[in-house]
Amino acid sequence: MHPISKAIRIQLGPTNEKEHSNPIFMTSSFCYDDAEQMRAVFADEIEQNMYSRFVNPNTKELEQKMAALEGTEAAFATATGMAAIFSCFMSLLKQGDTLLSCNSIFGSTHTVITKYLPKYGIQHKYVPASATEEEWEAAIDPSVKMIYLETPTNPALDILDLEMIGRVAKKHNIIFVVDNAFATPLCQQPVQYGADLVVHSGTKWLDGQGRVLGGVVCGRKELVNEVYLFVRSSGASLSPFNAWILSKSLETLDVRMERHAANALYIAEQLSDHPEIEWLKYPHLSSHPQYAIAKKQMQNGGGLVTFNLKGGLDAGREFLNKLQMLSLTANLGDTRSIASHPASTTHAKLSAEERMKTGITPGLIRISVGLEHRDDILNDILQAL
Ligand SMILES: *Cc1c(COP(=O)(O)O)cnc(C)c1O
Repeated sequence: MHPISKAIRIQLGPTNEKEHSNPIFMTSSFCYDDAEQMRAVFADEIEQNMYSRFVNPNTKELEQKMAALEGTEAAFATATGMAAIFSCFMSLLKQGDTLLSCNSIFGSTHTVITKYLPKYGIQHKYVPASATEEEWEAAIDPSVKMIYLETPTNPALDILDLEMIGRVAKKHNIIFVVDNAFATPLCQQPVQYGADLVVHSGTKWLDGQGRVLGGVVCGRKELVNEVYLFVRSSGASLSPFNAWILSKSLETLDVRMERHAANALYIAEQLSDHPEIEWLKYPHLSSHPQYAIAKKQMQNGGGLVTFNLKGGLDAGREFLNKLQMLSLTANLGDTRSIASHPASTTHAKLSAEERMKTGITPGLIRISVGLEHRDDILNDILQAL
């Protein structure tokens, strides 16, 4: 079966009730027939459900679907995207190691890397999103044990070259981890470029309807198992209910992403010459600075569009105030279109200089393009402009 069919057809069960849709296994633990079976399960001699902090049928189903979509041996579900990311760091890095990453990464990931990992003796180095192969090479020393990145970056939508960075990671035998939340596996499969692990915030496009938090780590079995062992002891496990929602959501991910990307391309094309807009970025628009790389590694341009308003900070705030349909909210990857102005909201605590380093100009607007009629989305943006 093709991965998209597996995302629909993988199903644990049915139970004796012969249900068609998978039930939710709201149970914290599982039973044993006798003392001997219980002993063998606890001794890891036989694989069987034990306790939902370890594994649950709903999380297992979600994991198998995600492994199929990302083309990986294994996957493991976590409570949130941040739990997935933090668990990769904690299970695979140790005191004295260095994590090499990029200036442009998700805000909470940046906080974990700069505020918490140093407490455990794990240092970091950042290169700019525009770094060349020589600059990535120059950042490597024997203490670098992991390369961690996101592409497209949030919110600037810069594209990092997965093939080039994967080559650098392989040459130096460094674990290569990619946060694929923005692109989703329907648009980009980082393992094709040598990623050892792919992490997701299920909260975004995977759920796609702004309902639940969740995360997934996909990759080579031995590495995913390390993450699993960390989470099963430390506790950031996904609830069966959220896993059920996310597993159901994956059945429609392909059609949703196709429409999100088509709507986003249309919005980007219609807005690119607007007089109030200084520049606009969309990965599959030929004006994007890394268009060639985006065409190589992304099957579509994704569902996000960013543009910079000529009027800067005040224009950004005014734009948000004038929107009538688009939601003002911190999430992205929803059926409902969302606008955000990072300089006055999510990234307001950074200094102006720090913001510029991550590509956040004062007038930057990020649109998460939803599934409403494309002209309703466009017209709301146009009247606000
Ligand atoms: C939202 C997001 C995260 C964090 O995910 P949560 O589910 O909110 O913990 C990580 N990376 C990226 C790129 C995100 O957009």
